[in-house]
Amino acid sequence: MEAAAHVLVFPWPLQGHINCMHHLATALLDAGLHVTFLHTHHNLQRLATHPAPAQPRLRLLSIPDGLPEDHPRSVAHLNDLMDSMRTTGSAAYRALLASSSNKDGHPPVTCVIADGVMAFAVDVAEEVGLPAIAFRTASACSFLTYLSVRRLVELGEFPIPSDQPVSGVPGMEGFLRRRDLPRAPRRAGSATDDCGVDPMLLNMGECTVHSGEARALILNTSASMEAAALAHIAPHMRDVFSVGPLHAAAGTGTKSAATTASLWREDDGCMAWLDGQPDRSVVYVSLGSLTVISEEQLAEFLSGLAATGYAFLWVLRPDMVAGGTTGLTAVKMLVGEKARVVHWAPQRDVLRHRAVGCFLTHAGWNSTLEAAYEGVPTVCWTFFGDQLINSRFVETVWRTGVDIKDVCDRAVVEKAVREAMESGEIRAAAKAMALQLKLDVADGGSSSSEIKRLVAFIKELSP
Ligand code: UDP
Repeated sequence: MEAAAHVLVFPWPLQGHINCMHHLATALLDAGLHVTFLHTHHNLQRLATHPAPAQPRLRLLSIPDGLPEDHPRSVAHLNDLMDSMRTTGSAAYRALLASSSNKDGHPPVTCVIADGVMAFAVDVAEEVGLPAIAFRTASACSFLTYLSVRRLVELGEFPIPSDQPVSGVPGMEGFLRRRDLPRAPRRAGSATDDCGVDPMLLNMGECTVHSGEARALILNTSASMEAAALAHIAPHMRDVFSVGPLHAAAGTGTKSAATTASLWREDDGCMAWLDGQPDRSVVYVSLGSLTVISEEQLAEFLSGLAATGYAFLWVLRPDMVAGGTTGLTAVKMLVGEKARVVHWAPQRDVLRHRAVGCFLTHAGWNSTLEAAYEGVPTVCWTFFGDQLINSRFVETVWRTGVDIKDVCDRAVVEKAVREAMESGEIRAAAKAMALQLKLDVADGGSSSSEIKRLVAFIKELSP
């Protein structure tokens, strides 16, 4: 009798990574596999405020991330998290894999899907005899850029705020500029960007190359969106599965709903407020789970948005504005007919709402895909990492939005938001992309077929 395939899914413990690996887990459950979803103790406790639906083939486990409980785990401390996961987290993960025989009624784990930013997670699994697949939660275009870091370093092409062209990333020679290259988080309030070889870029470059050692690479993208980048990536990997957008793929199945993945409590009240707004009249503003802005930047966004005259729904996480509350008070004073502020929104429902006309985003890959799937034009103001590449693709390749990139200025915000709200060309491109993505995840579409191929691949890897 064929052994039951049981996949341990291990995301890097940040919201954007948890979200799409959660969708992947749901798709695998829908296909009849067993899934162990591995959180950190810290995150599992945060999730525990939300009820998890019963799913007999799903198990949630956790390991320590190695940081003290009161550690901020914010974007300024990502290196602490990386270091402690590599040591304490890695040791606990090894012990867990080594002891994973039949437990709690679940068959033994037969395969690991580990977030590719944790190279150790692939190595440790293979060392204890479990085949490991790498999953990268970023776009193919940014994966390819990270894959090209060694070449970029050789050419001296580092991220700087300049329009100088970049030649070190295959297929992007015509439009990639130095300012589009991934780099470390902006320091809130810093007027200038940091330049030079950034250790985070080098580290991401190395772990991206390392994904080539895994049995395969899974990307949350679709062939229709990123064919060129995928073609350049394929020769460097043992196999590549393009299964995205996973939030939509998972939603079309039998709804095994892995469990809730949100580390924040969603404020659903904004949906009723949206119901009262005319069609395509609202700007949705969210800069994701990690971005931190200064009071000055908040004021620029606020003034730019107010000048457009459009109503807006703004996600302002409690930890999002560095150093002070004056700006926050200013935003709250505007709340009423024209504006609504929430700590955390049900973003996919918001983007699906008929009242939303455009999305001012940091161009995180989940947000970019969620907007693309709903055909919502975007204005991109980026904070760090892959966002800088995604936003360039939004404006110059997909033409579904406007890239303001590293400029936080009220006049620029106003102009970009007007353009995204009013341009027929941008709206048409966004609509066409949404239609295509819906075909990709529907039965027989490219991403849906890739999920089936992945499930067969996992079953083959399972003894
Ligand atoms: N998100 C959400 N509510 C919010 C803001 C964000 O549910 O108010 C979700 C969003 O739908 C996305 C994720 O958080 O799935 C953010 O991931 P992304 O890759 O866009 O950015 P990151 O947070 O990793 O920078």
